[in-house]
Amino acid sequence: MSKKSKSNGWRPATIAVHGNGRVRKAYHAVSTPIVQTSNYSFENTAEVWEFMKEKAQGRIIREHEYGRYFNPTQQEVERKLAAIEGAERAITFSSGMSGLILTVLAYVKKGGHVVFTSDCYRQTRDFANNWLTKFGVESTFVDPKADAIEAAIRPNTNLIFTELPTNPFLRVVDLEAVVKVAKRHKVLTIVDPTLATPYNIRPLKMGVDIVVHSATKYLGGHNDLVAGVVLGGHKLLEDLNKFERMVGATPGPHTCFLLERGLKTFGLRMEHHNKAGLAVAKFLESHPKVERVFYPGLKSHPDYAVAKKQMHGNGSVVSLLVKGKNKETCRFIDALKLFSITPSLGGSESLVTQMAVMSFFDYTPEFRKKLGISDNLVRLALGLEDVDDLIADLDQALKKS
Ligand code: PLP
Repeated sequence: MSKKSKSNGWRPATIAVHGNGRVRKAYHAVSTPIVQTSNYSFENTAEVWEFMKEKAQGRIIREHEYGRYFNPTQQEVERKLAAIEGAERAITFSSGMSGLILTVLAYVKKGGHVVFTSDCYRQTRDFANNWLTKFGVESTFVDPKADAIEAAIRPNTNLIFTELPTNPFLRVVDLEAVVKVAKRHKVLTIVDPTLATPYNIRPLKMGVDIVVHSATKYLGGHNDLVAGVVLGGHKLLEDLNKFERMVGATPGPHTCFLLERGLKTFGLRMEHHNKAGLAVAKFLESHPKVERVFYPGLKSHPDYAVAKKQMHGNGSVVSLLVKGKNKETCRFIDALKLFSITPSLGGSESLVTQMAVMSFFDYTPEFRKKLGISDNLVRLALGLEDVDDLIADLDQALKKS
């Protein structure tokens, strides 16, 4: 991404290596040490008194107290994530879902109502339908369009939650338009741009209030950790921070180390992912064994213009309809050599998911149909392999479908 950051003139790839500047590490280490401890001791009682008195006034004179609240490795990765996103503050979580759920719970109002956009991560939908309702909070799911969101707003709506690009159809909502709607109705906006990453879009700069990422995906980038991060203004995130410390949804030190290390190659990886996604999408679109391709970088995608306007690139998740039904689709997937059959995305290894089976199996066929999840819908999450090898693998597998 060529846009320079305002703070020091560094571009995102550099910030992903250094954060906003050099931080002195224990033992002069260059990499971030893993501080594997659950407790942090005080020298004497006077130090405890001083710490507690300051804390009661909202001043933190020493950041580490107890492992459920925070750990030093987490602090390093949060500094870096905030710098990459251009946020005042980042709070990391043990998973994307724990970050997302605690954020909604922290900011939704009693008797409130949330507008979600459809085609979102299915666990987000299940959380809204099966759990928020228990607390008397209603949700409405609408098309990822600002006018549909506005039409769903009620007097008790206080949150808009949207994803972009969505999963599996890669819909891209116009964030500028959503922010205008939110401001008009004084509603808080939460955006999950996990599939875009801060390399491709930075929603906070566009006026969004809170950003939630599954860091399990592109931010971690190696299919080897589970984590989440929530970003926004200092003051706004204070309640969420208190909530996380209470629940203990903090990521462990080793996860934080892996995440911070993964970020060092974030710029390189995202350049590759963006190029690979577009090249594979174009290849698939011209393939006789493919019925349809969903990728926002293709002119045939309904949100091509919006994506072009607001995104730097479109990542490496490409969905397609294989020509045929379940049998042909299974033959295609089973013939792939470079793709592992598994959910998730954004890592070094390429992954493939037959959506109807892997992610939506327990829904009724009628509901799957309503969501557009047919048996021949396949989601590819391209990894860091050579793009020509991926294309050759897809071609030979499609020929066997
Ligand atoms: N948001 C999106 C868009 C996702 O795709 C996922 C997981 O696939 C999540 C949130 C949840 O993240 P995690 O698996 O890290 O809890």
